[in-house]
Amino acid sequence: MSFQPKNKIIIITAPSGAGKTSITHYLLKKFPQLAFSVSAATRPRRKHEVDGKDYYFLSQEDFDQKIKHNEFVEWEMVYEGKSYGTLKSELQRIWDNNQVPVLDIDVKGAIHVQGQYSGTVLSIFVEPPSVDELKRRLSSRGTETEESLQTRVNKASYEISFKHRFDKIILNDDLNKACKRAEEVITEFLNS
Ligand code: 5GP
Repeated sequence: MSFQPKNKIIIITAPSGAGKTSITHYLLKKFPQLAFSVSAATRPRRKHEVDGKDYYFLSQEDFDQKIKHNEFVEWEMVYEGKSYGTLKSELQRIWDNNQVPVLDIDVKGAIHVQGQYSGTVLSIFVEPPSVDELKRRLSSRGTETEESLQTRVNKASYEISFKHRFDKIILNDDLNKACKRAEEVITEFLNS
């Protein structure tokens, strides 16, 4: 049998606003073998987010306890004072369900996971057409303050410089095309 979900991991990484969440949603609908890896996060929950579905929203104290008990595969303070992390228990839960976890995580976290599970990971970097376009998308999303928008834009340029560290780079200048391209590379990975 060529499909062996155990230990396989798919990472979708990109600067914030590059479209990785839209691509991830598309893939999760397309492939029943995939399951979203719900990260732990200390940032406040946004209006439409659901605890346990979008993130496990934790207090800083609870997050620190999990670091102390070595419960994370990786974690990062992605933005000042806001930490995000992939829980070992979350990957195990998905593998136990005979599915492949899809991690929507930042570039540094993605590099860490790749290092720990080399050989069974497919990493995809979603590249925005430009930093200006990224800024426009983030503004129109309406979730950012002027300050957090600037933080995300500054971070994006830095993150784009790491794109060659990943297995596949998908340019998101057209969301449909980017989704189709992601579908192709994942089909190949699942059958490998
Ligand atoms: P947001 O606050 O917009 O939901 O996410 C901010 C950033 O944190 C995104 O780039 C997202 O991919 C990243 N992120 C979400 N979960 C994790 C995680 O578990 N680990 C790391 N390193 N980054 C994460």
